[in-house]
Amino acid sequence: MVYNANGDYMTKPHQIGLKVLKRINDASYEAFFVGGFVRDFILKIESTDIDIATNARPEAIQSLFDKVIPTGLKYGTVTVIEEGYTFEVTTYRTEDNYQDNRHPDTVKYSTYLKDDLSRRDFTINQLVMDKNGQIFDHHHGLDDLNNQRIRTIGDPKARFEEDSLRLLRAFRFSAKLGFQIEEKTIEAIIQVGALIRNVSIERIQNELSMLFEMPHKKKAIQAMIDTDFHRALFDLNAGFNKLYETTALFDELLAWTVLFLESGYDAKLWKLPNKTIHSIKTITKLHLQSKDSPFDVFQLFNFGLSMVTYANQLNQIYGLEDQTALIKSLHQSMPIHHVCDLAFKGEHIIKQFKITNKRHIGALIDYLIEAVLLKQVDNDYESLKKYAQEVLQRLESGL
Ligand code: ATP
Ligand code: MG
Repeated sequence: MVYNANGDYMTKPHQIGLKVLKRINDASYEAFFVGGFVRDFILKIESTDIDIATNARPEAIQSLFDKVIPTGLKYGTVTVIEEGYTFEVTTYRTEDNYQDNRHPDTVKYSTYLKDDLSRRDFTINQLVMDKNGQIFDHHHGLDDLNNQRIRTIGDPKARFEEDSLRLLRAFRFSAKLGFQIEEKTIEAIIQVGALIRNVSIERIQNELSMLFEMPHKKKAIQAMIDTDFHRALFDLNAGFNKLYETTALFDELLAWTVLFLESGYDAKLWKLPNKTIHSIKTITKLHLQSKDSPFDVFQLFNFGLSMVTYANQLNQIYGLEDQTALIKSLHQSMPIHHVCDLAFKGEHIIKQFKITNKRHIGALIDYLIEAVLLKQVDNDYESLKKYAQEVLQRLESGL
């Protein structure tokens, strides 16, 4: 365990980060940890994502370290890799001339730390810490940390108009930290919340996905509903109300499933990964099927334990009975969980039988799976081979 001068525990990336700060300082530049890392350090939340602010230009940083990736050179950011850890090092800058409520068209470097801090979104995100562990706070961020408040730096309406992603970031930090969004910031969200529609759908999805994984997501969803911000999010309001009302647990995947179950998935608008969309469809299908009949071994076999478990959680969000015990006992009693668990499978069928119609192979495997799952035939080579022969005769004779 390594501690700083104030007796605070320092993680490995923190210790290496200090070396990075020192090397920049030794070359006569300023360098500070900044933003989320400092905020989380004070709150004793472990974070590995370390940002560094400096008055050194990216080229100077590139010359000081062996491994530097020009990740965001346009914005003055390079990624320094030291002892396997990465550090985002950004030159002090001011931003002006925002277009489309999202992208600044020019990025101007500054030699002053205070300029760099003023451009940041929330007071709790502008704290900096030097190599000695000393904290500098230009915008009353420590007060807001103590009072558990999320407040923009400067006029909230103007800051949201400059970059409307900050609207959603306010809710995301509330979801992460359980903090209240401060009154004037809330008022501005009520006034200009609709600007979120100018932000790219990928960024909106990304923020929401992170929010749904946070411990205080219910609090943030409540604030979204209270400010009517949920209505700005492309007609997902019914889903947000459902998520708010339920006492059942949900994660990111289930949250998206509820939102789209309530409002339908607009494929022209949303750009969720195909895998997520596929899971949402499966969970929804299983949920709808289980309204009429309990979960069964075939659903478990075809879609897997995880999907059925999700569907059961979705059921609970919709006030249906919890079938956890049934799912568990069905899963435990299943002789096979995958087609490859069959003792007599495709390769054996091809080797042992002369099959004239290739389509019969797939059909035969389905029959074997069904017979084993229903425990009509034991999952052993000889029993299945005998059964397969009978079925094949029927298939080949067209019965
Ligand atoms: P976490 O990593 O826990 O999500 P974070 O505060 O580190 O939180 P990042 O998105 O990693 O958030 O951004 C790092 C820092 O950059 C923020 O703390 C903030 O100072 C600044 N920042 C990021 N996005 C914006 C923005 N849209 N407007 C203004 N400042 C921003
Ligand atoms: Mg971060």
